[in-house]
Amino acid sequence: MPGDVVTMDKIVSLCKRRGFIFPASEIYGGIANTYDYGHYGVLLKQNVVGEWWRSMIQDRDDVVALDSAIIQHPKTWEASGHLAGFTDPLVDCRTCKQRFRADHLAELECGRRPSKHPGEDAQCDLTDPRDFNLMFETSIGPVKEGGTTVFLRPETAQGIFLDFKQVLQFARRKPPFGIAQVGKSFRNEITARNFIFRTLEFEQMEMEFFVPPDQARHWYEHWMAERLDWYTRLGIDAVGLRLRAHDAVELSHYSSATSDVEYRFPFGWSELEGIANRGDFDLRQHAQHSGEKLEFVDPQGGERYVPHVIEPAAGVGRSLLAFMCDAYDEDELGGERRTVLRLHPALAPVKVAVLPLLRKDGHPELAREVYASLRRHVKAEYDDGGAIGRRYRRQDEIGTPFAVTVDHQSLEDRTVTLRDRDTLAQERVAIDGLARVLQERLAVQ
Ligand code: ATP
Repeated sequence: MPGDVVTMDKIVSLCKRRGFIFPASEIYGGIANTYDYGHYGVLLKQNVVGEWWRSMIQDRDDVVALDSAIIQHPKTWEASGHLAGFTDPLVDCRTCKQRFRADHLAELECGRRPSKHPGEDAQCDLTDPRDFNLMFETSIGPVKEGGTTVFLRPETAQGIFLDFKQVLQFARRKPPFGIAQVGKSFRNEITARNFIFRTLEFEQMEMEFFVPPDQARHWYEHWMAERLDWYTRLGIDAVGLRLRAHDAVELSHYSSATSDVEYRFPFGWSELEGIANRGDFDLRQHAQHSGEKLEFVDPQGGERYVPHVIEPAAGVGRSLLAFMCDAYDEDELGGERRTVLRLHPALAPVKVAVLPLLRKDGHPELAREVYASLRRHVKAEYDDGGAIGRRYRRQDEIGTPFAVTVDHQSLEDRTVTLRDRDTLAQERVAIDGLARVLQERLAVQ
């Protein structure tokens, strides 16, 4: 069963081996908490994001899309509370000169004695914790000294609040309705751990759902169920998912209730997504700091109120990592160990591989013809490099649900073998109906 054999080492090495994800700036020795996505990683990421958009925009009609700027007016972060409160407590060790998150000490390694945690060795000399703001600063203007200090957004949500009034006008919506956005956010994270789980720059999929105040509880429940369901619909085993409510100490300054969707990663239960009842905090703050009225006025009855906001905020990289961990499996095939990513077909970077059995005898020509016809319908890949077994294995490792093989018989009767990644069943299918057969199978799974 997937999940039993997975470790982070295996995921990291598969990602590197197949070019999904690898450390950034590697020729210069890398840079902490920063990764690049290669071909299959990009395709997988696009599919994760595409499925999120589908669930927000296509499967319902009460959410609209937005793409706001990464650099916003600096007052944004004053109003949102990030300038004053978006901090992590850090300690420095005067002995090893390393810096640690004070709330992560129990999971971190001492700079001198990795078998101990920071502060545990007699030589450790930790400072008291100090608050350290996570926002990256930069400046606008030709000279740094005379420029305006601005920040790279640490979450996409604030851009949505800033545009609330605009969207209300052009989208002709009334609460309950949502504004969804996917984009990069930036946080100066100092703890390097667990591959892409915590990175300096990362993509978020955030949706702010504006509701009449008395409906906030209802919609909070709705979005918790909806978001949990999204992960299971896309193949994550429900036993590895849970909702965990924040207690009073953990709650953010803006939130009256928050629950995290957590996944059981190989390194333990960790957050994939936060679902927060933000109340009217953000709209009121921005109204106060900007002087603009950010409220809803019902054109019919003239009723006027500041909507409350329910926010599901997910990370693209973390979801992708969870999908990969859950899909990772190993089995035996012809006496050999096989690694297979049992990704949901909607997420698989490639849906079908087209493989000529031989690199001669007319196989490549017919295989190319089949490939050309399939790629019009689904993401297909042509591969004629190496023994057929190795080519199957390569596709299994990147999670391709189907492989089509062109052989001698194909030239005689225009049929191919269709191999299923998970059952390993092989059947003969006519080339003429192949695209339809594939589309049906990809759709039902
Ligand atoms: P954590 O407690 O793990 O730092 P958070 O509670 O601060 O996360 P949120 O502000 O709720 O995170 O952000 C929403 C989502 O954005 C998170 O659930 C996560 O999926 C993603 N995310 C946040 N910070 C990072 C990061 N540094 N790297 C990758 N993804 C992140």
